[in-house]
Amino acid sequence: MTRRHVVVIGGSATGMAAALALARSGERVTVLERDAIPVCASAVEAFESWQRPGTPQARHSHAFLARLHNSVRDRAPDFYQALLAAGAAPLRLAEIVGDTQAALLPADEDLTLLACRRITFDWVLRRHLAASTDVVYRDRVMVEGLEASPDASTGLPQVRGVRARAAESGAERIAADLVVDASGRRTRLREWLAAIGAAPLESEVQPCGIFYCTRFYRLHEGVEPPPIDGPIGADLGYMKYAIFPGDSRIFSITLAAAPEDRELRRVVRERVFQAAAAAIPATRSWVDPAVSAPITRVHGFGDLNDTLRLFVRDDAPLALGLFPVGDALVHANPLSGRGCTLGWLSAWMLADAWARHPGDPLGFARALHAEIARELVPWYEDMRDQDHAAIRAAGLARAGIDPLTFERPDGSVDPGAYLRSLIRDGLVPALREDAVVLRAFLRVFNMLDSPKSLLGSPDVLQRIVAVWQRRHQREPFRLGPDRDEMATRLRAA
Ligand SMILES: Cc1cc2nc3c(=O)[nH]c(=O)nc-3n(C[C@H](O)[C@H](O)[C@H](O)COP(=O)(O)OP(=O)(O)OC[C@H]3O[C@@H](n4cnc5c(N)ncnc54)[C@H](O)[C@@H]3O)c2cc1C
Repeated sequence: MTRRHVVVIGGSATGMAAALALARSGERVTVLERDAIPVCASAVEAFESWQRPGTPQARHSHAFLARLHNSVRDRAPDFYQALLAAGAAPLRLAEIVGDTQAALLPADEDLTLLACRRITFDWVLRRHLAASTDVVYRDRVMVEGLEASPDASTGLPQVRGVRARAAESGAERIAADLVVDASGRRTRLREWLAAIGAAPLESEVQPCGIFYCTRFYRLHEGVEPPPIDGPIGADLGYMKYAIFPGDSRIFSITLAAAPEDRELRRVVRERVFQAAAAAIPATRSWVDPAVSAPITRVHGFGDLNDTLRLFVRDDAPLALGLFPVGDALVHANPLSGRGCTLGWLSAWMLADAWARHPGDPLGFARALHAEIARELVPWYEDMRDQDHAAIRAAGLARAGIDPLTFERPDGSVDPGAYLRSLIRDGLVPALREDAVVLRAFLRVFNMLDSPKSLLGSPDVLQRIVAVWQRRHQREPFRLGPDRDEMATRLRAA
């Protein structure tokens, strides 16, 4: 069989995963990346020297979920070994928690995350591809548009390559049998499609309702990472927090709150961020100056949306010989930690579908779309619905209404408030008391079981309701200070 040529637009996590997967299927791949991403000598050098305006989130905390860890290990064992050699580590949940949760945590082998900084992940992948004879990675090349002609049988535009501009050599046209758009959340796919006469690309877009702040720290020599005795991330109601263990004794803390909350937006300042992290019991021991020191400023990220691009409508793609993957196709609230997993999975689905449908671009697009709709879109819908509910609850709280009061004055029940109450006073305490609930939660959180399987399981739901029914007998469990106390501390900082 003649080898086909695939052009991948964007050389970040998903674009590189697509190149890896397509090369394994026997294709020739050219990756075009607008930023300068040199193959540095070490992950630390990449962390310090890479400027990536095209992927600003690379400077933020990244969790690599068990679904991603397991798929990397199984589908690309040599890349997995290279990650471990670079300092990334499999993190079995049962091994990192303190005594309280250890007794409850399932020992399941597949509940294993990858502790790794985002830049390390990309650097190892970049180096791995540089050693491949099937992949050409060209950085400082900006794709400006698509080359296409009408397909005689379907009337759809058939993409035949891209128009690009290289920083050193200027404009060029690059022919391709398939173009993969992995150019991220700010893809220009809509304009590119319009320019080749395709039907308009529509998207579902909804705000995530948060801004996001991250700071990286390094553990002092000889100091053990503090035990994690409780959730690694949680919601204080007005602010969300998470701890991200990384590689090379570096970890990061992320804080997120509503963009409208002007007072909390001050956490983007270093002293205020430090004060907030020191006020939360779960993060306090990590940012203790005796344990670690900050190694970066606080990086902020705003304008976050849940987005799904509708590239296939009525069972037909908007163009043949083209498909978006990763963030260019779908992205959701980063707090879910699902972006890189969705990108990696979509890249391998694309390579598999492309290999299964040689010479049939319509069949390829339909098969890939069906798999994405079945396997990936439910994760986006789950996050979109959660964000919608959280934005509503935050709005009620700001208006002085308790978002957990579910009994209406006329005796009826507000289902949204009931669900919030069930989660806060049922699910959250059950995670500390019931191994079955904890296991089900962790499997969904890590994308190993479907998002509906947590509250959709009668057994799990019954256990959560049983804990919720005892809510008045339990001392309220405080994950951290209330909003007023936090605001006072932040003002003092
Ligand atoms: C604040 C924040 C925190 C996050 N935390 C997590 C987390 O904990 N876990 C997780 O799994 N995910 C997380 N994500 C999501 C994750 O970062 C993304 O899902 C992931 O980066 C998607 O990879 P991608 O390759 O599809 O897109 P990107 O990483 O955005 O890469 C797109 C690439 O395309 C290049 N490009 C763009 N246009 C062109 C062009 N015209 N020509 C050539 N190149 C171009 C860009 O320079 C860039 O390199 C987070 C996201 C944010 C915003």
